[in-house]
Amino acid sequence: MSDATHHKMVIVGSGPAGYTAAIYAGRAELEPLVIAGLTFGGQLMITTDVENYPGFPEGVTGPDLMDRMQKQAERFGATIVFEDAIKIDLAHRPFAVETESMRVTADTVIVATGASARWLGIPSEERLVNKGVSACATCDGALYRGKAMAVVGGGDTAMEEALFLTRFASKVTVIHRRSELRASKIMQDRALAHDKIEFAWNAEVDEVLGDEFVTGVRLRDTESGETRELDVEALFIAIGHQPNTALFAGQLEQDGVGYLKAEPGSSRTQVPGVFVCGDAMDPVYRQAVTAAGTGCMAAIDAERWLAEQE
Ligand SMILES: Cc1cc2nc3c(=O)[nH]c(=O)nc-3n(C[C@H](O)[C@H](O)[C@H](O)COP(=O)(O)OP(=O)(O)OC[C@H]3O[C@@H](n4cnc5c(N)ncnc54)[C@H](O)[C@@H]3O)c2cc1C
Repeated sequence: MSDATHHKMVIVGSGPAGYTAAIYAGRAELEPLVIAGLTFGGQLMITTDVENYPGFPEGVTGPDLMDRMQKQAERFGATIVFEDAIKIDLAHRPFAVETESMRVTADTVIVATGASARWLGIPSEERLVNKGVSACATCDGALYRGKAMAVVGGGDTAMEEALFLTRFASKVTVIHRRSELRASKIMQDRALAHDKIEFAWNAEVDEVLGDEFVTGVRLRDTESGETRELDVEALFIAIGHQPNTALFAGQLEQDGVGYLKAEPGSSRTQVPGVFVCGDAMDPVYRQAVTAAGTGCMAAIDAERWLAEQE
């Protein structure tokens, strides 16, 4: 491992939050080091059409958008390392961040490690991602206008997604493993009362059907084991997200799921000099533009904090 180099700012993560923080910090001449991660570019790297990011009236592919953000960050002096941070010490200043090949120290750290959507984990689902299978109704619902759709899950997010999809879908079937929902009473009532929403109770997805695009799902009854087919052309998986924050356990405050906590209205964590942005701290909006927005906040907060220290 090479000797530790010191940086004013280290940004961990290279999704919209991390790269936006890098653009702002670069323009403030902080020469940020971005530890981009092995899955650099973040969640948008696995999506085709991004139609709701401002400035792209014709839409943009996820990888193209992230490539543009990376180049913009580099243009303003960000150095990008395509490795995972494997150890981070926030107990002492300067802070220390380690990857497989190097150890660096930093006056300030911005955490932008994002989150991962939970998937069912079956091969047919993986094969048909972006071809009818999605983990984000807000992002992809409009792509399947007029079609029958299904949502997997029984919590508030699944109900929100199902209700949102009724704007586009001919019909929405909520597929739930149990006979009762986990969602809050108000969300349950709204979904249960909606004339476009049907429920497949005690059902789990056995197989997503379709060669090129989703044509249906095979459901297995969780009690009898019987299977049946449901004709849908889009399947939204809404069984939760996992923030990528295990590295910070015991160092930064987290909620029960693992989302990092920031002071309301800011990106400041309880450790002075450490800031958080993007999906790693956002269980609610989880959009590229909100991640970019909080990335901007983190860079400005960090820059002001550094100025106060001088
Ligand atoms: C399939 C799909 C489609 C979507 N479509 C849209 C859309 O159309 N419009 C929209 O607005 N939003 C969309 N979203 C949501 C959007 O992608 C996220 O809200 C956004 O990417 C969050 O940005 P982020 O920077 O916080 O985190 P992420 O994009 O999750 O990026 C996190 C980054 O941190 C890195 N990282 C994690 N751990 C480490 C570590 N230990 N060391 C170094 N790096 C690390 C990862 O490698 C990754 O690069 C979609 C999401 C999915 C899953």
